[in-house]
Amino acid sequence: MSSTQYTKKIALVDCNSFYVSCERLFNPKIRKKPVVVLSNNDGCIISRSTEAKALGIKMGEPYFKGKDIIIKNNVQVFSSNYSLYGDISRRVMRTLKRFNSDIEIYSIDEAFLDLSNFTDEEVEKVGKEIRATVLQWTGIPTSIGIAKTKTLSKVANHIAKKTQSGVTSLIGIENIDPILEKVEISDIWGVGKQLTKFYQKNGIYNAKQLKNKSNTWIKKSSNVLSSRTAMELRGIPCIDLETTTSKRKSCVVSRSFGKRVEKFQELREAVANYCLNASEKIRSESLVAKAITVFVRTSPFQRNFGYYSNSKTVDFPIATNNSIETVKVAMSILDSIFKNGYRYQKAGVMLTGLSNAEGKKNLFSSEKDEKINSLMRSIDNTNYRYGRSTLSLASAGVQKRWNMRRQYSSKIDTADFYCLPTVRVY
Ligand SMILES: [Mg+2]
Repeated sequence: MSSTQYTKKIALVDCNSFYVSCERLFNPKIRKKPVVVLSNNDGCIISRSTEAKALGIKMGEPYFKGKDIIIKNNVQVFSSNYSLYGDISRRVMRTLKRFNSDIEIYSIDEAFLDLSNFTDEEVEKVGKEIRATVLQWTGIPTSIGIAKTKTLSKVANHIAKKTQSGVTSLIGIENIDPILEKVEISDIWGVGKQLTKFYQKNGIYNAKQLKNKSNTWIKKSSNVLSSRTAMELRGIPCIDLETTTSKRKSCVVSRSFGKRVEKFQELREAVANYCLNASEKIRSESLVAKAITVFVRTSPFQRNFGYYSNSKTVDFPIATNNSIETVKVAMSILDSIFKNGYRYQKAGVMLTGLSNAEGKKNLFSSEKDEKINSLMRSIDNTNYRYGRSTLSLASAGVQKRWNMRRQYSSKIDTADFYCLPTVRVY
């Protein structure tokens, strides 16, 4: 049947309990044990293993609230290790690109893949092959949902999470109403809290009811986005895959400090580091930035120490991704917005007005620019091979007292040479 060739087939690949799975990769002892991962500064529970879910530990719950259950059941606790998760995520995405280079990386652990080139009959088998390959090459278990639209592939993915094979395809199913009937309205992709309330008020409690509601009613009472969601539930693709990374218009790096920072020098080091990370990030995507924003603030919850928050944006003379330049400008911004006597809780930098770096030569390009570019390239290559911040700028500091609180960190970093495991041979 050649007609089946033209149905759109979208797969959503989602890594199971991603952060927990990353920690388990290098720690086989915790494979079958309950495990949780905490958010920045060990605040909330943001990833749970199946065993931890079974104990009743809730997603997003503050760590102290779950502590009783955690101690009683000997649950393994980890501080989040984003350097590790980012690296594993890149490996998973690279593996997915083997099947179709046009993928939309939706989040650190999710990607949409266009599988329209495969026939209806093949597509489930392809899904299983993708799952097996990702597991074999990266060690990360995934769930895969396949359907005619992105919204339906999300539905399929929910079902896949509960199946043994981990792969569910809705392609070729004539009537999906019985399936949609079991999907609560709040679980539909793109339906948030407000919209859920609104739909429920109007008697729409599940995906089937939304699918069968008239478009005129939806458009009139909500908006175009909602009618797109309903169309997608009917199997009509309305939301395209966003496959080009260059769509990104800005790059933000910001953190809350592990402990309050008062010294100008420490704040300078932190901001310089965020600049280095942001510059490296946009270089890796071959982008240059038009402007940079630096912001600082104290904790809004400790106003007895005085509250202060400020930010400033400065345009670069020429769009750049050069770390030396971004750090230089960021330092001068920080000079102008820093105020003595406050306990800073958070700082960050944002590179904006991003565009492609290629062919960005202009009247003012010089041999010196070429030299700086090649210096940046060798810094990136060295840091890629020997671990982040092997080569750095002096302004970024060495001690990093302002770093995040990470009491339970696994201290594994696949991007850091010094985190390689040591093996003793007798
Ligand atoms: Mg996931």
